[in-house]
Amino acid sequence: MNLKGACAVVLAATALTATALSGTASAAPSTLPSYSQWQADVKQAVDPVIPWLRDRVAQGGSKLAIVLDIDNTSLETEYNPGRPNKPVLAVAQWADQHNVSVLFVTARTSSSSARSQLGSAGYPVDGICTRQSGEGTAEGKQRCRRELTEEGYTITANIGNRSTDLEGGDYERGFKLPDYDGQLS
Ligand SMILES: [Mg+2]
Repeated sequence: MNLKGACAVVLAATALTATALSGTASAAPSTLPSYSQWQADVKQAVDPVIPWLRDRVAQGGSKLAIVLDIDNTSLETEYNPGRPNKPVLAVAQWADQHNVSVLFVTARTSSSSARSQLGSAGYPVDGICTRQSGEGTAEGKQRCRRELTEEGYTITANIGNRSTDLEGGDYERGFKLPDYDGQLS
């Protein structure tokens, strides 16, 4: 747990205690941070990506690619459904402009709605790999990366907001966005 997560949990516990003591029936407070705090945390995680890609592209390689998680990474699924998460969109656009393929790996089991949502949000989409029924999230994502690697892609950056996005291998460098202890899918 990061420091912000720890603080949020402590604050939530304090608020719940206060509610219990006063006997009021106010709604349980959300421990999700504000949109602006989330964006600040996302920006901090994503800021190193384009410099990394710039160096990586300069080194060359075969079918360089980035892999993006969709929900609460590429799209603002929790805060503004369907809208692009702008720091990640900027990475995808930079990649697209520099001949780096933009691939999506998701725990969703259908790619058709994802493709239209990503397109509407402005993403270049070179491929989407979905989870198969019966697969665990990390397992499905690892299979996707393995298959993409077998297709010849070199996955330079793997960007996601959950640890299950980064478990396993078949990528060079992972970038972890916040999930606030599992609150963001
Ligand atoms: Mg996600």
